[in-house]
Amino acid sequence: MRLLVALRSRGVSDMRVLTAMERVDRARFVSPTFVSRAFEDVPLPIARGQTISQPSVVGMMTQALGTKPRDIVLEVGTGTGYQAAILSHLVRRVYTIERHRPLARMARETHEAMGLSNITQIVGDGSHGVPEQAPFDRILVTAATEDPPGPLLAQLRIGGTMIVPVGVSDQVQTLIKVVRTADGYDYEELAAVRFVPLIEGVEHD
Ligand code: SAH
Repeated sequence: MRLLVALRSRGVSDMRVLTAMERVDRARFVSPTFVSRAFEDVPLPIARGQTISQPSVVGMMTQALGTKPRDIVLEVGTGTGYQAAILSHLVRRVYTIERHRPLARMARETHEAMGLSNITQIVGDGSHGVPEQAPFDRILVTAATEDPPGPLLAQLRIGGTMIVPVGVSDQVQTLIKVVRTADGYDYEELAAVRFVPLIEGVEHD
């Protein structure tokens, strides 16, 4: 209920998005220490110094992505797998890529326990995308970058949408919507956000 108010305050009104979010229990994605706060509209710390995003921001980004049921989606930055779980209720298949192997493994276990079988978890540097599965109808980047990575732009289908936090500072970035047209890319600024940075390379720890 409290979450619904927070979502509405961020302009999240799409019933498909609200229903998908209702179906995903955020408590399953946070560590036992923070379970009591799983339904507050705040980001929470997760393993490897990363964070699970604020639910209202997840809602806003999911709505901005404008998914259709037949879509193939790439998420960069699996983290806990919470965002991927929401997407799995909205689209045909979700590819989600994470540079920290233990996070990717935990996310896969959570998705399997929830019976979400249309998510493929990949360990890798998401700034290169997943060329063998491209093109994607939608791409959602959940870590901040100075510029939308070229390989991700290239792997977006014509007519497709990418949502990505862009900025040079760790403190505040701008959420950008990129639409690929027949002859280029259209850019739109959506909101101020704060994400952990997109980092190159893979961590096997
Ligand atoms: N979407 C997540 C939260 C994202 S936190 C959720 O629903 O819980 C951002 C994540 O991006 C972190 O887990 C971080 O390790 C990952 N990340 C950062 N740079 C990356 C890169 N180049 N490739 C893949 N993942 C990356």
